[in-house]
Amino acid sequence: MARLQIKEGMDMLVSRSTNNGNTQVRVRGCVIGGEQLAIVAGPCAVENEEIMKETAFKVRGSGANILRAGAYKPRTSPYSFQGLGEAGLKILARIGEEMNMPVITEVMDAEDIAVVTDYADILQVGARNMHNFSLLKKLGKINKPIVLKRGMSATIEEWLLAAEYILAGGNSQLILCERGIRSSEPWTRNTLDLAAVAMVKEMSHLPVLVDPSHATGVRSLVTPMARAAIAGGADGIMVEVHPHPEKALSDGDQSLTPRGFSQLMKEIEPVARAVGRRAR
Ligand code: PEP
Ligand code: MN
Repeated sequence: MARLQIKEGMDMLVSRSTNNGNTQVRVRGCVIGGEQLAIVAGPCAVENEEIMKETAFKVRGSGANILRAGAYKPRTSPYSFQGLGEAGLKILARIGEEMNMPVITEVMDAEDIAVVTDYADILQVGARNMHNFSLLKKLGKINKPIVLKRGMSATIEEWLLAAEYILAGGNSQLILCERGIRSSEPWTRNTLDLAAVAMVKEMSHLPVLVDPSHATGVRSLVTPMARAAIAGGADGIMVEVHPHPEKALSDGDQSLTPRGFSQLMKEIEPVARAVGRRAR
């Protein structure tokens, strides 16, 4: 196993030995890394006010405690929907306020840190930006929680070193998120690496979420992988939910309906209890 050391006899900030116990990140009354799981849910992207509101209302009713949606979307094709930008941030922040839920959204570019910080409670670094060291350095200087997704081809060590950039900058409000890695398997979008979650929990004090939506790309696999993630020690999940997945502007195939999300919540409850956690 890698030694998370700066030099001989000096452990990295990310390593478990430098922080007794597990780090808990607090945001607007919500604790990430505590006994209660963090349940992050919402559409892939902010599409409009109505969809955002309906989704938020329903996922909150089922037990989600953090609202997600992207306003700046890292799309594979430049011709795909790129997100609403600041207009999307405004909608997300307004609905989060109305529903009394903290909101998380992706910051794709260092240029946008200020505007995203104005509207979001938690900033997300997407998989494609995990290696963007200048962005990570700048996020180390802000006073807002960060979710750092694992790069799609990143090793566990590279992921933890990316986290170290943010901690070394002085921002200790950091949460990791496993979202699947590239493999030779074509039937799923990515391959969910649950061993990485267990290993990171062993090596680091940081809370770890699992995103079973991007990890599989397949709606029917999201709930089984959410159950598995929680059984394996994840501190929470991030799940894409859309009221009309067939009409979603991005990631409809992996989005649960609000009813599917309510079923997921029922199914993770006994699993959470079995590992000494609670889902709501
Ligand atoms: C997302 O959460 O919307 C997203 C784009 O995820 P990832 O960066 O893991 O692909
Ligand atoms: Mn998505």
